[in-house]
Amino acid sequence: MDIFDNTILCNKCNVKMQKAKFVKNRFLFRAMVCPKCNKKLIHPVDEQEYNKFINLRNKEFNVKMRLVGNSYAVSIPKEIVSFMSEQEKIMDNMVRLCFEEMGRVSLNFGKIKKEI
Ligand SMILES: [Zn+2]
Repeated sequence: MDIFDNTILCNKCNVKMQKAKFVKNRFLFRAMVCPKCNKKLIHPVDEQEYNKFINLRNKEFNVKMRLVGNSYAVSIPKEIVSFMSEQEKIMDNMVRLCFEEMGRVSLNFGKIKKEI
């Protein structure tokens, strides 16, 4: 059972809080919101996952580039890919690659969630 399946009262208004979902940095959060004062409680599990993401996001990896046939291959650290697949649950083996600007190539895994 999820903790958010319990009745949670706003400690300010003493009103029953309602389930809500919101997106921040393409991250989906479950929350409880007070209908009176709009106070928000973020699901602790989602908050933990988000903090993990923030830590990973700022981490820099030095990876080698090697020539494979007519292409260059780089290895993407496993911790990034496994974190993304945990979150998205839609990982396939196709990744969209884009030459964004000089000195920068971006990789797009999975579907982009729209900001709410
Ligand atoms: Zn309230």
